[in-house]
Amino acid sequence: MDLNLKKFEVWFVTGSQHLYGDDTLRQVEDQAQQIAAAINDHPKIPVTVVHKAVLTRSADIRNLIAQANADNNCIGLIMWMHTFSPARMWISGLNMLAKPYVHLHTQFSQDIPWSDIDMDYMNLNQSAHGDREFGFINTRLRKARKVVVGHWKDEEVIERLNVWMRAAAAWQDGQGAKIARFGDNMRDVAVTEGDKVAAQIQFGYEVNGYALGDLVERVNAVTDQEIAQLIEEYEASYTLTDRVKEGGPARANLLEAARIELGMRKFLEEGGFKGFTTTFENLVGLKQLPGLAVQRLMKDGYGFGAEGDWKTAALLRAAKVMAVGLPKGTSFMEDYVYHLDPAGMRILGAHMLEICESIAADKPVLDIQPLGIGGKDDPARLLFEAPPGPAICASMIDLGNRFRMIVNEVDTVTSPEDLPKLPVARALWAPKPDLKTAAACWILGGGAHHTVFSQALTTEYIEDYCEIAGIELVVINENTTVADFKNELRLNEIYYHLAKGI
Ligand code: MN
Repeated sequence: MDLNLKKFEVWFVTGSQHLYGDDTLRQVEDQAQQIAAAINDHPKIPVTVVHKAVLTRSADIRNLIAQANADNNCIGLIMWMHTFSPARMWISGLNMLAKPYVHLHTQFSQDIPWSDIDMDYMNLNQSAHGDREFGFINTRLRKARKVVVGHWKDEEVIERLNVWMRAAAAWQDGQGAKIARFGDNMRDVAVTEGDKVAAQIQFGYEVNGYALGDLVERVNAVTDQEIAQLIEEYEASYTLTDRVKEGGPARANLLEAARIELGMRKFLEEGGFKGFTTTFENLVGLKQLPGLAVQRLMKDGYGFGAEGDWKTAALLRAAKVMAVGLPKGTSFMEDYVYHLDPAGMRILGAHMLEICESIAADKPVLDIQPLGIGGKDDPARLLFEAPPGPAICASMIDLGNRFRMIVNEVDTVTSPEDLPKLPVARALWAPKPDLKTAAACWILGGGAHHTVFSQALTTEYIEDYCEIAGIELVVINENTTVADFKNELRLNEIYYHLAKGI
């Protein structure tokens, strides 16, 4: 995906007060600058970290937070109380703050200098209690934030910050993001439906429908020269089967698939869209269900949901932004078929066609095969399997009064045998803690069959994103039991009902 996260800024803000005198404040500022610079320079930090100010007065705090709110490059703040900073001066600023933030609970020096420590040192290095005062006022204001604890050179601290920054970048990317729908929801399907107005209020993205005829117009305007160029790219990137090679019996279908990709890409680029949906029930004017096109557009960072599933399209876009530059891939996915052998239960995930090639273990095979659904020409698709390793499946549903995110931590495994007759890209995984528990909890929680599958992200990314968005998150992992999960769902019903007010 072609997105440089370094264009995003996180502002490093330090709290203090005037009680200690100017010399101490100068030291505070100098040390805060060192910390901000070290975090910014760390190779694992994906965004630009900017030291902003040592804040000691409520008017200055309000002023800085107003600037942060208004700055489109600023995706969030890191806040740290080097010394004691009486927290009532933060109230009006925090009440205004509209950006995500992390409370970094650190200390300039890692170790206590046992033989040298005196009261000057004690007065300068007060975050152990200064951050507790700051924490209280955040909790008193019921502010959602991430708290990261440890020395600022600690690699684990850097990783916590990295995850949060990526979630904050995805959040910023989603504000005003446009998701295009080609066709409506698959008829009668429930879980892919939802309240688009509620989603815009909650997440900031806009979902709108577009006439398929306008897309078809772009597709039909594609030139033979453009198609020839794209076919060259296919030939350089994938292993073509004999059917689709030059002179092969399905070559014409491949040219048509290239035409559809070029037209879709043009439509999405012209409209500034970050995600889209399709549906096999509305393909009027297209000769094939867009398969290859969707696979390649996902690889380039577009969010996608099949059968009109705009919630998954938007979630996939957010996941793609979070995963920029990380190893392994992220794709639209569907829980398709089970392997229920008690010796090793598995879920085979796939879709009719639309799985992102970023999760391919090896060079994908490009083929044309019949598709039983949709009543169109045989479509092009990339075939591959995801590599083994940990992954998450994430699903967002609309419960009517709120959105719920459901995450299952899984282990992707290699297929025990070849699947020579299965003409779709796929992933095979063992859910945690086991398939029976995971599927029971998923179903009790109302999770969809459509998910975002990621081998690049962990639950923590989704947790940070949900914290920023202010939505419910339930996680199914190695510690989950059905009884505890049911209780969590019951308690969440109460909490979210009360927290919402009227
Ligand atoms: Mn589907």
